[in-house]
Order: sequence, then C-alpha cells, then structure tokens
Amino acid sequence: MRIDITRLKEDESLALEHDYDPKALNLELYDLHYLALLKFKGTLEKIKNALFLKGTLASKLEILCNRCLKPVPQNVTEKVDLYYPFTNQEYLETMDDVREVMILSYPVKFLCHENCKGLCYRCGASLNEDSCQCGKQAGAATGGGAFDRLKDWYSKRKKKRILNREQEKSWLIQNADILI
Ligand SMILES: [Zn+2]
Ligand SMILES: [Zn+2]
Repeated sequence: MRIDITRLKEDESLALEHDYDPKALNLELYDLHYLALLKFKGTLEKIKNALFLKGTLASKLEILCNRCLKPVPQNVTEKVDLYYPFTNQEYLETMDDVREVMILSYPVKFLCHENCKGLCYRCGASLNEDSCQCGKQAGAATGGGAFDRLKDWYSKRKKKRILNREQEKSWLIQNADILI
C-alpha cells in the first residue's frame, strides 16, 4: 500500500483500510497458501518527525501439516506496529514491512494436531485415517511381520546349507574311487 502523506497533519490520525494480494507480496510457500486477500485495518499518525502505522492484518490461510500433509485452514490476525522516520516524503510504501510481519508470523513447524500420526512409510496413506491396511496385515502375522520374515529366511538358509552338505556327501561317496 502506497499512502499519500502530503495531506497528513501533525497529531492527526488517518484511518486506513487496504487489501493486499498475497501473491503480489510473494507471501505463499509450497506448504502455505492464502484462501483470501490480506486485509489491513488501522491508522497512520504523524508525530513530530515520525510516522506510526498501527492496526491489524487479517486473512485466511491453508497450511499443510508437516507430518501428514493434510491442508488445514487457519484464520490469522497479526498486529502491525510500525515506525518510519518522516523526511518530508510524499508517499509511504508499506509492502515490504507488511510482507515481513506476515513471514515472521509463519509457524516453524505446523501440525494438524499435536498427536498427528503422520503417513505410512509403506503406502503413503494418512495414519490418522483408517485407509492404511499395512498395519493390519502386520498385525495378522502376530504383530511381528519383519521378525517372522527374518525367521523364515533363516530357516530356509539353514535347510539349504544342510542340503548342500548332503549333496557334498553323496558326491564324495559317488566319487570316492576317483579320489582314492
Ligand atoms: Zn497431520
Ligand atoms: Zn500403509
């Protein structure tokens, strides 16, 4: 928002309302999107050699859960309390500062729920919903799918070794005369 401050009088508060386009402000991230415009409502005041911009920025976002990737709508309201030196300029450009206020408000880690179970590492289904069957299959195999498979592999390997030894023995018997 570019505010004309030529008509702003000393100690006078100017009421302001402005809708910012989140895309124009480059506010969207791969996991964070705006569902509405970013609305500013507040005041601009000139006190001696300073300009004070105060108010709130509000919008509606959609953030993906960092664990299960589910989009979660969020209403956001951020306080604006900015100060600018007054140097007889005619305009005040607020875009960069508005962008900074919003970027700094973004959560470092966002979860749909503190107990979000995330995604199944095998089929990619959300473990918060009932669509993953992997756990159920492992559960049917006495809850130890991987261990059972290991046991299976070990006994097969053992059988193979016995078989090899028997083959070796029979070969030795068959070829005993050659060897002697
Ligand atoms: Zn989640
Ligand atoms: Zn699964």
